[in-house]
Amino acid sequence: MNPLDFLKYTPKTNCGECGQPTCLAFAVAVTKGGADPARCPHIDAALLPEGATGAGPGLEAVDRGQEERDMALVAHLKSRIADVDFQAAARALGAQWSAADPGVLRLRYLGRSVVLGKEDLRMDGEELVDPRDQILLYNYVAFGGGQVPDGTWVGMESLPNSISKVRTLATYCEMRLADRFSGRAGALDEICTRVDGTAGPSGQSATVASVIPVLPYVPLYLLFWDEEPDDGFDARVKVLFDHHVMDFLDLESLVFAAERMADRLLELDRGAA
Ligand code: SF4
Repeated sequence: MNPLDFLKYTPKTNCGECGQPTCLAFAVAVTKGGADPARCPHIDAALLPEGATGAGPGLEAVDRGQEERDMALVAHLKSRIADVDFQAAARALGAQWSAADPGVLRLRYLGRSVVLGKEDLRMDGEELVDPRDQILLYNYVAFGGGQVPDGTWVGMESLPNSISKVRTLATYCEMRLADRFSGRAGALDEICTRVDGTAGPSGQSATVASVIPVLPYVPLYLLFWDEEPDDGFDARVKVLFDHHVMDFLDLESLVFAAERMADRLLELDRGAA
């Protein structure tokens, strides 16, 4: 069974009682990592078809293998930026550099302050340990920049070779946000401002339209149409990208950037609840 099929058996309330932050994360843990579906007290085990679990090597082994691959990638990206001239890179990446502290770039990442050195990374003054964030940030520097965003927005489906990523973006970003903020457009609007989001260009029919700078030159345009129960419409989210975005990140990292944006918005919403 794949995670989306399993997700249908959860109530999609993202209550966290199973130890996972969302029902989708739990669905991945069950179908890919062999976690026990009974960890969710809200699933009716009698309704689950046979073979619902992945019977995989267990989440711990899956997590460990993934972590080792992530750490190897971090080391590789660090070696790629070892010779980068930070002063020149700052201009190309929308980061700050100063002669007083030449070994670091300073930039904003989802409303947080990052100090990126060639060996270590700090976010809001704390060492950044999550390898996935490190991969995104070092990748951004390794790409070296390109044509800066000019306000021409496109969907994931318009980016080259992106067909397989459209579904991933929907699963890990758009559907999660639509589920969480359905009927709560005001809360989403407020939370977007806390990650440096600004109102998007006028002319959109969306209830919330916010441009969120995940990284200085990787803005994501978040469009949210709220539910309309009387007309039978569920809430919907669409994320748009600047048409030059692939000068700054590869597709994989781009989808991850959108996933991190969703993680951050959900985290801030949990904190506000
Ligand atoms: S306990 Fe069940 S309902 Fe709650 S987040 Fe986990 S899967 Fe979703």
